[in-house]
Amino acid sequence: VARWNEIPLAPPDKILGIAEAFKEDSNPKKINLGVGAYRNNEGKPIIFPSVKNAERSLLETEVEKEYTGINGSKPFQSIVQNFIFNNSNKDAAGAKLIGGNRIVTAQTISGTGSLRVIADFLVRFNSAKKIYVPKPTWANHIAVFTDAGLDAEFYAYYDNNANDLDFANLTKSLEDADPESVVLLHACCHNPTGMDLTPEQWEVVLEIIQQKKLYPLIDMAYQGFASGNPYKDIGLIRRINQLVVEGKIPSYSLCQSFAKNMGLYGERTGSISIVTESPEQSKAIDSQLKKLIRPMYSSPPIHGSKIVETIFSNPELLESWLGDLDQVVGRLNTVRDKLYQKLDKTNYNWDHLTKQRGMFVYTGLSKEQMIALREKYSVYATEDGRFSISGINDSNVDYLANAINEVVR
Ligand code: PLP
Repeated sequence: VARWNEIPLAPPDKILGIAEAFKEDSNPKKINLGVGAYRNNEGKPIIFPSVKNAERSLLETEVEKEYTGINGSKPFQSIVQNFIFNNSNKDAAGAKLIGGNRIVTAQTISGTGSLRVIADFLVRFNSAKKIYVPKPTWANHIAVFTDAGLDAEFYAYYDNNANDLDFANLTKSLEDADPESVVLLHACCHNPTGMDLTPEQWEVVLEIIQQKKLYPLIDMAYQGFASGNPYKDIGLIRRINQLVVEGKIPSYSLCQSFAKNMGLYGERTGSISIVTESPEQSKAIDSQLKKLIRPMYSSPPIHGSKIVETIFSNPELLESWLGDLDQVVGRLNTVRDKLYQKLDKTNYNWDHLTKQRGMFVYTGLSKEQMIALREKYSVYATEDGRFSISGINDSNVDYLANAINEVVR
C-alpha cells in the first residue's frame, strides 16, 4: 500500500537553510558567513585562474566525453597518490607504499562521495562497525556514517569554555574506545573549530591508535588551507605512512577533495585511498570498491578530474595553481587578522582566533548571541558559533566587528 501521505517533513539542512534565510533578508548590510565556500574581497565566488586556463586547454584538446572507469581515471589516481602520499616524489615511505602496490585509489564524487564509499566499505569489511568522530565535527560526517550503517560516537576534541583543544580528554576518550573501531581524524583545518593537533600531539594519538588497534580514517578537505601550501599540510599523512612502512599501523584510509583547494566545489572531484597490507589485499580491495560503486553511481564525473590532470601535467599550470591557492589562503588570514584587531577584548578573550586555521573562525559565541547577530544585524552563520570567514571583506569587516562587539557587550 502506498503511504505517501504519511511521509513527514524533513528538517532543512542546517547550512543550506542559512543560505535560504539570507536570501530572504532585505537588509543591505546583511552578511553570509554560513557556507564553507570561498568568496573574494568583493564577496563573489571565483574560478581559480589556473583552473580557467586548464579548462581553456581542455576545450581545445578534448575529443570525447566517454565514461571513465568505475574507480575513475587512472592518471587521476596516480596524480593523487604521488601528490599526497609521495609529497610529489619527496616522501620515501609514501614512495615505498606506492611502489609496493599498497595504495588503492578511486576517484569519487568529491569528499562527501569518498566518505560515503569508505563508510559503505567499512560496513561490509571492517570487523567493528563503530566510528569515533571528534566533538564537534562537520555535521555531515555523522549523517554519512550513520546512513551507511556505521555507529557514530564522539571523542572529546574541544573545550568550549576555554576555546581551545581539549587534548587531555581527547586522549582519554580514545583510550576508552572500543578496539578495532574506526577513528576519524581531520588532516588539517579541523571543521568547525580550525584547531589542529601539533605534531607532538599527533604522535600521542598515533600511539593510542596502535595500542587500541583503531583503524584511522583521515578526512582531508582543506589541504593547503593551514599553511597556504598543500605540500606542507600533510604532516599527519607522512608520519602515518612511516608507521605503516614500519609495520606499526597495518593500514588506513584517506578521503580527499579538490573542492576547496582547487575551487572545484560543484565539479565534485575527490578520491578515496585505502592503504593496504599487501599487493594481494590491494587487488581484492580494488575489485570490491568497483563492486560497491558500480550499482551506486556507475562511475564518477570527468570534467573535474581532467582539470586536475591538466594542471598536474603542466609545470606552469601547477605553479600557477599553487600561487592561486596561496592567495586564497592569504586573504583568509588577512580577514581573520582584521576581524581580530577590531574586536573588543575588554570583556571577551579573542586570542583563540589567532590559533585557528582554515576557512572558519570558531567564535565561542553562544546560540543566543548567534541568534542576536542574525536578528539584529543580519549576520548569518551556524548557531554553533562558526563563521565561514571568506564572507568577510574590506567593506563589511567594520560592520561585522561592531555587531559582534554589541552582542558580546
Ligand atoms: N569533509 C569536511 C570536513 C568538509 O568540511 C567538507 C565540506 O565542507 C567535506 C568533507 C566534503 O566536501 P566536498 O564533498 O564538497 O568535497
